[in-house]
Order: sequence, then C-alpha cells, then structure tokens
Amino acid sequence: MTQWLTGAWDHPAERAHRVVAATLRAAYAWTVRREHHDAMREVARMTGVIMEAHGPGHGPVTPIDLVGCLRRPLGLLPALATGSDETIRQVVLLDGEDRLTPDAYDLACEYALPIGGPSDLAPWMPTWTWMRADQIRGETFIRLIETNNQTGYVASRRFLIEHPAATVSELRERVSETGVSLPRRGYTAIPADHLHHSAGGESWWWPCAVCLWPMAVAGTTVRCRYRPHAAVYQVAEGRTATSRPSLHRIDEGRSRHAKPVARPAADSCCVEFGVWRFVVVPGASELRVMRSLEELGATVELWPERDRYDLHVRAGEMEFRVDLKEYRSVHRLLADLRARPPAARVLLPKTHEHQLETLRTALPSLHVTTETKFGTEVRRAMRTE
Ligand SMILES: [Zn+2]
Repeated sequence: MTQWLTGAWDHPAERAHRVVAATLRAAYAWTVRREHHDAMREVARMTGVIMEAHGPGHGPVTPIDLVGCLRRPLGLLPALATGSDETIRQVVLLDGEDRLTPDAYDLACEYALPIGGPSDLAPWMPTWTWMRADQIRGETFIRLIETNNQTGYVASRRFLIEHPAATVSELRERVSETGVSLPRRGYTAIPADHLHHSAGGESWWWPCAVCLWPMAVAGTTVRCRYRPHAAVYQVAEGRTATSRPSLHRIDEGRSRHAKPVARPAADSCCVEFGVWRFVVVPGASELRVMRSLEELGATVELWPERDRYDLHVRAGEMEFRVDLKEYRSVHRLLADLRARPPAARVLLPKTHEHQLETLRTALPSLHVTTETKFGTEVRRAMRTE
C-alpha cells in the first residue's frame, strides 16, 4: 500500500485527485477531533500525503496550515490550481464554524479514495470519506455477490433503496415480510444534523421526497444533502411545544411529490451516509426510470449479472442495456468512464441531461443517451411490435 504514499502516480490529474481525497479526509477528521483522540493524527497523515503530492516548498507543510487551506477554495492548493476540473477548484470544505460544508457532502465525496489503504484506517472514519463509490457498493452487497445469489442481491439492494430510513420496528416487520438479508453495515442512528428538536423536547426528521433519506436540518432550513433533490423547506413549529412541526417550501421549484411529514426520531434509524449517497441516491433514479419504462409496456430487469450494468430492457422486438450515470462532477464521471468503460449504453437521468454534450465532446466513441431520448426510443420500439 506504500505506493499510495510514495508518489507512484505521476499524472497531474491523478495527483490532483489524490490531493482532493486527502483534503476531504482531513476535513472530516478535523470536524470530529474532539470526539476521537487520533483524529489529529489523521489530519497529520493527510498533510503528509498532500506534501508528497506537491513536492518540497509548495503547499501546506503543517496540519494547521492544511486546516487553513480547508477553509478556502481548494483551487488555491498548487496541485489543483491548473487542470480542467473547474468545479472542485471552487469547493470549500469547512465553513465558518469548522463544520463540513454542503459541497463536502454533495460533491467532494465523489473524489474519495483509499489513500494509504484501508488496513491502518481508524474505524471511526465513515466509508464515504475514504472509499470509492463502487467499493462502497461492493462492500455493502459482498455476501450476496460472493454466493452468486442474483435474486437475493436484487431484493436486498431494492429494499435499501425503498427503505433508507424507518423505525426499528417497521424495519423488522418489513424484513420478516420480504425475507431480504440486510448488509453487514446496515442501518445506523439518524445523524444529529438531520434532526430537528422541538421546544417540548421531541426530536423529528423528514424523509426527502425523492430519496426518502432524512433531510439535513440547518437551523430552521431543511433540505436533502444531495442538491439535485432540490426542494428547500422552512420548519414551522406545531401549535403546542409537543405537537408535530411542519414544513413550508421556500425554493422556487415545483414538485409532483407531496410535502414530507415529520417523523419522530425516537427509535428511528437510517442507512449510513455512504450507502445512501452511492446506493440509495442513484437507486432512486434507477427505480424511477424502471417504473416509467414499465408504464410504456417494457419489461425491465434490474442490475443483471450482479450489477454488470443497471437495466436490461425488453421493448417489443428490441432489447436495450443501459447504465445510469449520476455524478455531481462531470469531471469525475469522465475519469471513471475512461478508467472503466461501461458494459452498456450510458444513460443520463433527467437531472443530469445537461452533461450530454460534455460527454460527447470528451468521449466521441462513448454510447450515451438521456432519460428523455431513451424513453422516446422505447416508446417507438413498443409501437413497432
Ligand atoms: Zn434526497
């Protein structure tokens, strides 16, 4: 694993990626330094990774220098000052109160890498700060993949997507009804910054209307941490100190979804952030696309051949294979497509259709479509049946 620290990657883009991954990890460790005595050691370790990437005389040289850099746009770090990844250059990881910013959760998590390897990792570091998305998915379903149990794999993955948060008793009931096996790293307590505390002492959470995971609560503002799930709400307290608070939508958008209703936090749990971000968030789009194709009369199989691609679609005489790609960073998407060419046509969901031209320009030989165009194609295939 020492090659991760000794600069075996000389390509500037890879070096930049490693620097972003190290800053994300250092930023997370800094936010929990009071709870975990070895968090500062992690910040120091990441300072070493960043110093190695920059070479002598460039970039931060002490952990405190590095923390200062985390409060400013990442583009000020020499390794990120040039190159084509404009989005990440604008990102600031720590806010004025040294909490992780929305950009850290929403965008920077797509840059996570196992720098230094997992063997000596502190167990308190959550997966999304050091594992790639495909590693999180692999780790979540490892047992089902190893036993070649395709039906169990699909049922378990679908269960997490459809029930990313619930009370323990609801969960127990649904598991016994469906017989699904939950992953080893399954459900956990709802994070503190996803709860609202009423004056009467009750705590509440709201499921996002799109992904159903608890929305983040900042003061009286409530929204999903994944910004393409765009609705933003304001909390209105209930009539009495103990009654259920409600939400008022304050952004400009309109939605076909009903307004989320507050659920009591007592006895509630949810999947961990990494599983939510890299299984539930893309999964919500995969299931939505599947349902809309089924409404057109197509037959859809989810994650065939243990996730070689996302959807196998039969429409009339035609068969289609598509792989949904839902990245906040088009730069990360391009890098991953180059490193691991997809086993099916790439499909950009509605929220990401604007990335089509960038993909076509950068990868002219890539077979890529959008949710809208693909819907038209399937409709046509159904008509010619
Ligand atoms: Zn959401």
